[in-house]
Amino acid sequence: MDDTEENLDVFRDEVAHFVREHLPEDLRQTVRGGRQPSRDQMLRWHAELARVGWLVPHWAPEWGGQGWSARRLLAFDEVMCLNDAPELNSVTFDMIGPVLARYGTPAQQAAYLPAIASGGQWWCQGYSEPNAGSDLAALRTRAVREGDDYVVTGSKIWTSYAQYADMMFCLVRTDTEVRPQAGISFLLVDMRSPGISVRPIRGIHGWDVFCEVFLDGVRVPVDQRVGQENAGWGIAKSLLEFERLKLARIGENKRRRQRALRAAFRLGVHDTPAFRQRFAALQCRLLALEAMALGFIDRVQAGETIGPEVSMLKMRGSRLVQLWEELIVDTIGTEALCQSSDAMVPGGRGDFAEAASSCRFLTRGYTIAGGSTEVQHNVLARHLLGGRA
Ligand SMILES: Cc1cc2nc3c(=O)[nH]c(=O)nc-3n(C[C@H](O)[C@H](O)[C@H](O)COP(=O)(O)OP(=O)(O)OC[C@H]3O[C@@H](n4cnc5c(N)ncnc54)[C@H](O)[C@@H]3O)c2cc1C
Repeated sequence: MDDTEENLDVFRDEVAHFVREHLPEDLRQTVRGGRQPSRDQMLRWHAELARVGWLVPHWAPEWGGQGWSARRLLAFDEVMCLNDAPELNSVTFDMIGPVLARYGTPAQQAAYLPAIASGGQWWCQGYSEPNAGSDLAALRTRAVREGDDYVVTGSKIWTSYAQYADMMFCLVRTDTEVRPQAGISFLLVDMRSPGISVRPIRGIHGWDVFCEVFLDGVRVPVDQRVGQENAGWGIAKSLLEFERLKLARIGENKRRRQRALRAAFRLGVHDTPAFRQRFAALQCRLLALEAMALGFIDRVQAGETIGPEVSMLKMRGSRLVQLWEELIVDTIGTEALCQSSDAMVPGGRGDFAEAASSCRFLTRGYTIAGGSTEVQHNVLARHLLGGRA
């Protein structure tokens, strides 16, 4: 496909038209209001996207993808964000899908990839545990082989949207005698299995994103293991590759820029030096981030393998989203603390005020999830600057 800027502009118009026509109005209002979409709302949107082949466009065509270039994907993502489409669950579409396409057995691929591509199956990621976050290799959830099953016992935490999930991919300890990374396996677990319980944790933003997942003697058939026994660490690490370029969150940043401008115009402060200065500073950072992301995309499209320096995208992109949210909250002022529409004031701040706090607090986790900024700094220091961190 010839992705000239001209062609991409035509494509952007097509996508914008589609979202305006097909994004369900209740979901649009939920996103605008900074509220948590329900599972049902998300599945309806998945089905709309799947119908035109846009749910998993980044997958290989044999699994229902479009084989789009990274530039086209970026354009798609931006238009979605600018038209109030919700963020899709990257655990399902960017993580487990590509992992199964690369490492799954034919039976696993046949069982799960079409179900994911149709938009009807939700996955969650069971990696972190109470004492294993940044130091993930310390995980202790145990899987003991009994005949054709593993019997899994332990607990996971911060499992995003586990209460929505049909399936969980998780890391479990299958050998305690070797160095920690060498005794971990990668399992696919049906969330309806006896012995699983899920406890959502209400966040400061008012959403139930995180969950605790308890596994008490859960039987998982051995054929639900991906890769060899004790080879889960390599698969877990490779999974991060699949979403690296998205981590710049260019579309998500542009969504916030748009909201900051709307809020400033609505409140009549767009022309004040205070707003203009902060806006300009963030806009410069966004331009720099975009230039850096496009540089990576060009390298990938030229067939180059990119290394750990891509961590810069994650660090910069996630921090910038937070800075836009802070600008929005500061622009609105104290009313941004109101979370209920009852607290709306005459004068039109309503939807911004309602959304601002929850959106801001939601993005607080962006510099922690998927490897905290401090850990990313270590990665850069170790691999690029030759440090010993
Ligand atoms: C929004 C969000 C969604 C998440 N979703 C999921 C999910 O779906 N599934 C899942 O498994 N997990 C999920 N997590 C958990 C996430 O992976 C962990 O929070 C993360 O890995 C950090 O681990 P921790 O919370 O245990 O913090 P810790 O590892 O205890 O870190 C605490 C602090 O110490 C710093 N630190 C730790 N080690 C070092 C070091 N070596 N050098 C310098 N500083 C260090 C950290 O940066 C942090 O500031 C999610 C987290 C968030 C915020």
